Amino acid sequence: MNERPVYDVCVIGAGIVGCAVARELSRYRVRVLLVERGEDVGLGATKANSGIVHGAYSSAHGTLKASLCRAGALMYPRLNGELAFGYRRTGALVLAFSPEEKRTIADLAANGLANGDDDLQLLGAEQVRRLEPRINPEVQAALLCPSVGVASPYEMAIALAENAIANGVELRLASEVTSLSLDDQRDGSRFRLVAGGREAAARFVVNAAGVYADRVASFVGEPGFRIVPRQGQYVLFERGTGAAVSRVIFQVPSARGKGILVTSTYHGNLMIGPNANDVEDPEDEGTSLDVLGHIVATARRSLPDFDLRQALTTFAGVRATSDTKDFVVGAGAVPGFINAGGIDSPGLTSAPAIAERVRDLLADAGLRLEPRPEFEPARRPIIVPKSLSDKEVVPLLEAPGPGRIVCRCERVTEGEILDAMSRGIPVRTIDSVKKRTRAGMGKCQGRFCRPRVAAILARESGVDDAEAIRAYEQHLASKSRALTRLVRMGAWSGAEAGTAIKP
Ligand SMILES: Cc1cc2nc3c(=O)[nH]c(=O)nc-3n(C[C@H](O)[C@H](O)[C@H](O)COP(=O)(O)OP(=O)(O)OC[C@H]3O[C@@H](n4cnc5c(N)ncnc54)[C@H](O)[C@@H]3O)c2cc1C
Repeated sequence: MNERPVYDVCVIGAGIVGCAVARELSRYRVRVLLVERGEDVGLGATKANSGIVHGAYSSAHGTLKASLCRAGALMYPRLNGELAFGYRRTGALVLAFSPEEKRTIADLAANGLANGDDDLQLLGAEQVRRLEPRINPEVQAALLCPSVGVASPYEMAIALAENAIANGVELRLASEVTSLSLDDQRDGSRFRLVAGGREAAARFVVNAAGVYADRVASFVGEPGFRIVPRQGQYVLFERGTGAAVSRVIFQVPSARGKGILVTSTYHGNLMIGPNANDVEDPEDEGTSLDVLGHIVATARRSLPDFDLRQALTTFAGVRATSDTKDFVVGAGAVPGFINAGGIDSPGLTSAPAIAERVRDLLADAGLRLEPRPEFEPARRPIIVPKSLSDKEVVPLLEAPGPGRIVCRCERVTEGEILDAMSRGIPVRTIDSVKKRTRAGMGKCQGRFCRPRVAAILARESGVDDAEAIRAYEQHLASKSRALTRLVRMGAWSGAEAGTAIKP
C-alpha cells in the first residue's frame, strides 16, 4: 500500500512566485503542497529587492518579462485591496544628464509604448525640478512613468501564503526538495519527491526555486537554462527619510540592469541601490564597502543631499538571472513539470501574472480546474497605523496584555506579534516577527525589542530564546560592520555630492 500523501500540485519554493502560484491555485478544487527549504516564506530574492512595481519600458519588447511585467503591475491595486500587504502608486522618473541620456530615455519611451505603458511622458528640466525639488539640478530631462509603485515584497509573500493556507494549501517549511523523480502510479501521481526527509507524491510540479531553479529542473532531465546569480546591495535609511523623494528615481539603465535608484520604501525609509555583480555563491548576501561606496556616490548623482548618518542598515539580494536572458515560464522536460525560473527583475512586479500563466500551463497539461465557491480572497493586515508620541509610549512598555508595546521605535504591540504568529505559517524566528510586524526595524535596530520578541517566541512556540537571539545577531553582524565603516569614512554631507568614496 502506498501511504505517501498525494497532491495534485507540488509547488517548490515559497518566494513571491511560489506563493502567488499557490494562492492562485487555491481558487480551485485542487490539493496543493507548497514546499520551502527556508524557515519562512519569502526568504530568497523576495526579501531583498527594491520593492518597485515597475513599468514595462525597460524590458525588451517581445520578451516574457515585458508582457508579464505589464500584466502583473496592472493586478497590484486589486491584489493589495484583497490582501493588504502594502502597495502605493508613486510614479517614477528616469533622469537624463546629457544629450546621449536624453536619447536613451526617448528610446525607453518608445519601448514602453510598444510594451503597453500608455501613460509615459518626457519632461524638461524645469518640470522635473518642480516635481522633485531635491534632485540634482543638473538634470536635463526625464521620462515620467506614472504607473510605477512601491510594495513591501516580503509582506506580500507572507500575505499570499497566509491567504493560500486559509484556502486549503498545505505549507511545509524547512523542507528542501532533495530528490524528485518520475514515478507513475495508479493513483494518477507522476512525481515522487523527498522534501525535508519526508516523501510526497504529486501529479504536477511547479518549479519556483529561485536561484536553484536550474538544479531542481535537472532532477527530471535537461534543465534547458542555467541560473547566473547576480547580486545587488543596498543602503536603507531611517523611517521618514523617504520623504526626500515623491517618486522612484532611476538613472538610465545599462545592459546589466536598471541601475542605481533612489526611492522611498512602502514604509517611508529612503533606500538606495542596487548594483549588479555576478557572484559564485547563489546565497551571497554579504555587503562590501567598495560596492556600498559606489552606490552612495552614484545615488548622489540623483539626490545629492541625503545624510548617510541616517543610514540604518545595509543588505543584499541575489537575482536568479537566466542565461536565456528572459524569464523561463513554461512546460519543462517532462509532462506535468512546469518551470517558473530565471525570475530576476521585474519578477516581483510580474509574480501575479506569472501565477496566472502557470495556472493556464497546468490546465493545458491536464490539471482540472474547478472553481471553489468558498474561496475567500481577503486577508486582514497585521500592521496597524500608529500615531503615539514618545511620551505616550512609555507607560505602555510594561502594560499587561496585548496592548503592551514590545518594539519602542516602531510601536509594535504584543497583540500584533501574537496575531502574526497565528495565521497558519509557523513563526519561529525574530526575523520572521520583524518581517510581519516591523519589530526591530526602527532606529535602534532591535536592540531594545530583541529579547522581548525572543521571550514571546519562547512562551508561545517553545523556541529557545537565547538561540533565537544568537541566530538573529549573527544575521545582523556583517551588515552593521560595513555600514559603520561607510559612515566613518565621512561620506555623509551634501557638500560632497557626486564625489566618489574611496574605500
Ligand atoms: C537586488 C534585487 C533587486 C530587485 N528589484 C526588483 C524590483 O524592484 N521589482 C521587481 O519587480 N523585481 C525586483 N527584483 C526581482 C525579484 O526580487 C525576484 O524576481 C523575485 O523575488 C523572485 O521570486 P522567486 O519566488 O522566483 O524567487 P525567490 O524569492 O528566491 O524564492 C525561491 C524560493 O525557493 C526556495 N528553494 C530553492 N530551492 C529549493 C528546494 N530544493 N526545495 C525547496 N525550496 C527551495 C528558496 O529557499 C526560496 O525561498 C529584484 C531582485 C534583486 C535580487
